[in-house]
Amino acid sequence: MKVAKFGGTSLASAEQIKKICAIITDDPQRRLVVVSAPGKRSADDTKVTDLLIETARVRLTGQDGTAEIERVIERYRSIAEALDLPNDSLEPIRQDFLRRLHLDTADEGLYMDTMKAGGEDNSARLVAGYLRSTGVEAHYVDPGEGGMILSDEPGNARVLKQSYGKLRALRERPGITVFPGFFGYSERGQVVTFPRGGSDITGAILAAAVDAEHYENFTDVDSVFVANPTLVERPVAVEKITYREMRELSYAGFSVFHDEALEPVFHAGIPVVVKNTNNPSAAGTEIVPERPVGTFPVVGIAATDGFCSVYISKYLMNREVGFGRSLLQIFEDEGISFEHTPSGIDNMSVIVRESTFNKAAEERVLRRVRTELAVDEVTVERGLALIMVVGEGMNHTIGLAGQACTAFAEAGVNLEMINQGSSEVSMMFGIKASDIPGSVRALYNQFFGSST
Ligand code: ASP
Repeated sequence: MKVAKFGGTSLASAEQIKKICAIITDDPQRRLVVVSAPGKRSADDTKVTDLLIETARVRLTGQDGTAEIERVIERYRSIAEALDLPNDSLEPIRQDFLRRLHLDTADEGLYMDTMKAGGEDNSARLVAGYLRSTGVEAHYVDPGEGGMILSDEPGNARVLKQSYGKLRALRERPGITVFPGFFGYSERGQVVTFPRGGSDITGAILAAAVDAEHYENFTDVDSVFVANPTLVERPVAVEKITYREMRELSYAGFSVFHDEALEPVFHAGIPVVVKNTNNPSAAGTEIVPERPVGTFPVVGIAATDGFCSVYISKYLMNREVGFGRSLLQIFEDEGISFEHTPSGIDNMSVIVRESTFNKAAEERVLRRVRTELAVDEVTVERGLALIMVVGEGMNHTIGLAGQACTAFAEAGVNLEMINQGSSEVSMMFGIKASDIPGSVRALYNQFFGSST
């Protein structure tokens, strides 16, 4: 069987839902379907998930939120009407949103997650209802009943191992099972969501649980491209990419696929195909365990901003046993995850995400670094971007780092950091966020220029 996941733009309107239902019924193996909440219909539209977040925020500030939830209900009403669903099919959806709106707000994380989850939950009800209305056997499944048990981390949940055994039983269900993405239940039985874009994660977990032959991820582009199409005109399409490569590119800003979504399918060895709902016959991009690297030692270039570097130097640091541990302990005590730690003989930088490192946290960390570690210098640089050149072929190809550095030099970009792990699947460079467009174009021309 195949697990087919459809992203927000595939659910954005009745017309899109008709397309996905045609795709589902076109292949009898597509028996387990995961859906997102309705996304944007046009560039200036708002995703249902964002409307729901706004609704929850309004309620959490003590206002009633009725106008906000009505905007959400209106989205579903317009879809249901254009799908010619029976008049009473909207009522359970409306009641469900109103119930969520009036839930107790004392636990803010729980309230926010329960509200957000409504988007996917009602999308799944709608799609199952529409499939049935066309004479197809289809059933909505609640993730709690299905066995999607998650860690109790609102907005940032992870799947618990015990989920897999129970979810496996979805294989045996008759007809087409429509499963809402993005959320599950904690062991206490409360709604928790994955990070944003997390319906990809739901799909991957289900694919691993039922041992699917393929995990198909339907989105709104024909394939993954080697560089961001908003920065590079008509970039080369990627036909095959390994899990490791895709993970690195997703981490560094490729938004086609959630970077955490690969873990379950990677371990189960299930191939992933990224396909286009608007052009399902296009081959798409396959994410596989291995690929022949021959012609493309580099598979992609990605860049993302929002990082911050804490630079520490201390004369004879290299002789001090335990320095690194003590430094990272300070970050751990603050609950801050570090991303990278490039180091020199007597210096170390800790790269963290700016979103986890506000001014108050910065002050506390710097104070402790100065007093507990007696360093010579500690400085913080914000507005850092990471740009990654990724490819399995890097391991065997001489001169790729030289080519990358030449591209930066030609673009007049100053490199703030260079980092290459020993796995040699990627090279990472720290640059100023404002240098992203020029750097991506220069790297693209260097590595793919001749193939356009
Ligand atoms: N609807 C959620 C979001 O916008 C999850 C998803 O679409 O994957 O983040």
